[in-house]
Amino acid sequence: MDDRSAGVIAAPALLLDNVVKSYGPIRAVNGVSFAARPGEFIALLGPNGAGKSTLFQLLSGLFVPDSGRIEVMGHDMTRDAVPALARLGIVFQQPTLDLELSVTANLLFHAGLHGIPRSIAKPRIEAELSRLGLADRAHDKTSQLSGGNRRRVELARALLHQPRVLLMDEPTVGLDPASRTDLLKLLLTMRLERAVAVLWATHLCDEVADADRVIVMHKGKLLADTTPEKLVAAAGVSTVEEAFLAMTGGGEEGRLAGR
Ligand code: ADP
Repeated sequence: MDDRSAGVIAAPALLLDNVVKSYGPIRAVNGVSFAARPGEFIALLGPNGAGKSTLFQLLSGLFVPDSGRIEVMGHDMTRDAVPALARLGIVFQQPTLDLELSVTANLLFHAGLHGIPRSIAKPRIEAELSRLGLADRAHDKTSQLSGGNRRRVELARALLHQPRVLLMDEPTVGLDPASRTDLLKLLLTMRLERAVAVLWATHLCDEVADADRVIVMHKGKLLADTTPEKLVAAAGVSTVEEAFLAMTGGGEEGRLAGR
């Protein structure tokens, strides 16, 4: 499990090399390549149908690419799936907590799935909950928490096994504006403290401004991989949304879905 062992230190946290995935005739992910460094926050921006969910399913090992390569900390996702997945944390778009269990019970269950002994899991859970401002909710039933706090529990769960890459699949869907902003700020701070690479999929342009990089995906392809400032400047416009519309021709397919 030592990622500093010979050779691996030079590897990016996450690497995609010419990844392709089709459903019959539809190329949902069409030759996607990019790399994420430890501590980098990358916003993956694309309208519905761009291929974001398919990309996340490939990144989380649910699908295997038709061709191309995915590596997590130098471990190939197809040939070397166990160590690759061990270094990956995922917050799914759909809520996945057991609402009948307490916050701690949800987290202990997940720790068990990752083979983390209870003696290690318990202090780790306490530390995560306190870092996320939820120490006093540890023994509450999860159903008693607000949507924003449930997302924080899902984040704590994704971090329990100390991943080096964190996948957030449209994590603010269903949250109120204040909770959305809080979650985004939390991740922007946390990724530096923990040197974890964050890939944050969204269709909301206002979640992109503070990212280190923005990757624009459309019809399965990467249209851009740059900073938010350069994306806007290159298009000669003043907002990320205008830049996106300029890149995609502004047609119906390119339009970002509303909140
Ligand atoms: P996004 O998450 O950006 O909305 P998706 O990855 O869900 O994009 O979809 C990318 C493309 O693949 C779309 O054209 C979509 O209709 C198609 N697609 C997604 N899932 C399936 C599936 N299970 N079977 C066939 N086509 C699919």
